[in-house]
Amino acid sequence: MSQRFQAVKGTRDLLPPETSVWSGVEEVARRVFETYGYREIRTPILEDTELFVRSVGESTDIVGKEMYTFQDRKGRSLTLRPENTASVVRAFIQQGLQREPLPAKLFYIGPQFRYERPQKGRYRQFHQIGAELIGDPGPYSDAELILMLVRFLGELGFRDLVVQLNTVGDEDSRAAYRTRLREFLEPHRDRLTADSQRRLETNPLRILDTKDAGEKSLLAGAPQLVDCLTEDSRQHFATVQTILERHRLPFRVEPRLVRGLDYYTRTVFEIVSEGLGAQDAIVGGGRYDGLVEELGGQPQPAIGFAIGEDRLLEVLPEETSVRLSPVAPIAVVTAGNVPTEEALAVAESLRRQGLSVAAELSRRSVKAALKRAHRSGCRWVILIGDDEMAGGTVTVRDLETASQSQVTRDALVEHLGESE
Ligand code: AMP
Repeated sequence: MSQRFQAVKGTRDLLPPETSVWSGVEEVARRVFETYGYREIRTPILEDTELFVRSVGESTDIVGKEMYTFQDRKGRSLTLRPENTASVVRAFIQQGLQREPLPAKLFYIGPQFRYERPQKGRYRQFHQIGAELIGDPGPYSDAELILMLVRFLGELGFRDLVVQLNTVGDEDSRAAYRTRLREFLEPHRDRLTADSQRRLETNPLRILDTKDAGEKSLLAGAPQLVDCLTEDSRQHFATVQTILERHRLPFRVEPRLVRGLDYYTRTVFEIVSEGLGAQDAIVGGGRYDGLVEELGGQPQPAIGFAIGEDRLLEVLPEETSVRLSPVAPIAVVTAGNVPTEEALAVAESLRRQGLSVAAELSRRSVKAALKRAHRSGCRWVILIGDDEMAGGTVTVRDLETASQSQVTRDALVEHLGESE
């Protein structure tokens, strides 16, 4: 017996009609983002491994254990992108986008790859819809980006989502906090997991992301980053909050929110949805003022977010405007001695007039063709038998009302319109 192949673990086939919801959501994203002046960027799925090591950070889970990294035939180390911000920044620098009017406002939609343990809402190939604003340091840009995000979610029908907001400060704030956190955790070193013990040296902020219950309770008494903020960072964060309040955007300050990637500075945010269980984050984002310079460009402040599209679809509200697209509502079937070509010709003429039509092109019995039309959810079947052919008519059967009528070909479109 020949081998039966399966999709790679953690990857999924997205099938119709669900795919129509995916493209519907993406259409809303494009429309909303464009009203804020964002335009689409598409970067390669493959990048130099070093790009992610430098940006996402060596001590993160993503770089430490989740990347799909391999050598190509020339021995170069390449990685399937685990996220898209680093690629956008690489493209911004490489393509000289800083010479265009700033800020650059870019959005992307596409697959990302992380070697994580698959579970509900967590896949090895997943999809993100994201936006990046590069070239403006001010708090109004933070607020506007978050307003855009929430408008997008609102247009999809989400009503009760709350943005969790925090600041991780600028480099000086973080350096001061790293020292304080290290001093606090050092005496409790033996209560930390092996990963966290290592991070105590390399990057103690990462420990705040822990899922370990023991570490969580230990951290409950830890000093908070908010107490180490520079005046400038404090002011920036306060202004972001004031603007969001002015625009009546619901948010909650979460002092422990630090986000899992190294490049964040100042404002960070997340949106979670209760409908999702353990993997409840649908959006993550924040400022990354040092990243463009870190990746070799002229310093440019920036901010962005990434929405997990797979999870977003799992919790799409009932009242969303995005619909499953119906199958073609009309089927054309020939019978008797009428050639199949006639079904195709009639279908083509209806399609030219904007109707969505399936032609029955395999020689089935009329009974089998009707059954198939019924099962696939068609509303009308257009039958062309010998009599219809001779008389220049067709028989239109309405599967919903089980009625049928003879119509001349010229009157067909009008007839379908009337009985709708
Ligand atoms: P991050 O880049 O880690 O901030 O992730 C941003 C968003 O992408 C998260 O809030 C999730 O919704 C989504 N996401 C991240 N990893 C996965 C995954 N393995 N499977 C599905 N969605 C994911």
